[in-house]
Amino acid sequence: MKITLLPGDGIGPEIVTATVKVMDAAAKKFGFALEYDHQLLGGCAIDAYNDPYPEVTQKSANAADAVLLGAVGGPKWDNVDPSIRPEKGLLRIRKDLGLYCNLRPMKVSRFTAHLSPLKPERVENTDLLIVRELTGGIYFGTHNEAAMVDGVETASDVDLYTRPEVERIARKAFEAAKVRRGKVTSVDKANVLAESRMWRKIVTEMQAKEYPEIELNHLYVDNCAMQLVLNPGQFDVVLTNNIFGDILSDEASVLGGSIGLLPSASLGDGTGLYEPIHGSAPDIAGQGIANPTGTILSAAMLFRYSLDQQAAADAVEAAVEKVYEDGYRTPDLFGEGMTKVNTQEMGDLVAKAL
Ligand code: ATP
Ligand code: MG
Repeated sequence: MKITLLPGDGIGPEIVTATVKVMDAAAKKFGFALEYDHQLLGGCAIDAYNDPYPEVTQKSANAADAVLLGAVGGPKWDNVDPSIRPEKGLLRIRKDLGLYCNLRPMKVSRFTAHLSPLKPERVENTDLLIVRELTGGIYFGTHNEAAMVDGVETASDVDLYTRPEVERIARKAFEAAKVRRGKVTSVDKANVLAESRMWRKIVTEMQAKEYPEIELNHLYVDNCAMQLVLNPGQFDVVLTNNIFGDILSDEASVLGGSIGLLPSASLGDGTGLYEPIHGSAPDIAGQGIANPTGTILSAAMLFRYSLDQQAAADAVEAAVEKVYEDGYRTPDLFGEGMTKVNTQEMGDLVAKAL
């Protein structure tokens, strides 16, 4: 299976190197072969090609089964031409691969629950997955900039979805629920918005027709925001549109208390893209101390959603849990009674635990 590696900038190369050790150990254990193609994306690609998403990278990503990304950007490229900023590379690869589905799991480990801003007992059993639509809705509808209308300054944005767009994202949520705990919570604002009413209708129809074995419930987004902090343990898969998903995934990301631990996946109908949710952390780049856990867990998602290697995905997650249970921590999470390790040692430990 072909994997394009895009280490990117800042801590990206360090965390990807540590993660590849884990991927190799998993491939060996579960008997599949991984073929890597290293390419450039972001600032490093601007330096080499004057283009944050150069053609060689495009070719490689499109031919791959999956892409693993570290992080892009940093102060070095703050003053480059805005049309070739590192972040433009990210936007372009997402568009190029047709990634309309963003997956953000939030599983709180009992070994890190104390880092949460909430009481540990409230978040301890949290294991949810937010499925966010990524290429439609109000962010991509017509934006009518502020202008004088009948003597009053007025602005508006169009919140638009088509049936096929709703169906394909809902399908990702139902399919994810199948390999999880079989429950989907669809989040909308159907008491106010027409877009939400169609969304709710389509999701309800699909459950009845195609996914009768999946349990479906609906929540208004305001209630969901509240439930996420009151009782996050009630959720399995949370399905929502672009804007609500943007807000809810940031809210959910703080439940576990550490940015370095969280993975993400962006899926379309072809190559999937996997990356930690944090940025390039230029403040600690090159010191070998970054926490690779979010990237390692992104690799587990890559096994689960792009390579159909469920056992390998579960094993990588269990190996991470074991290393934390044994008290090993990178400096960002280091505390009394623990063993401090660097980025590569963390990768080695997880690979060994596999
Ligand atoms: P971006 O704009 O690319 O999202 P950002 O400015 O939001 O970047 P991050 O790069 O995510 O920020 O970093 C935020 C803080 O968290 C920094 O202090 C950084 O050092 C720390 N941090 C981020 N990722 C990690 C990691 N994997 N391990 C340790 N610390 C991290
Ligand atoms: Mg950020």
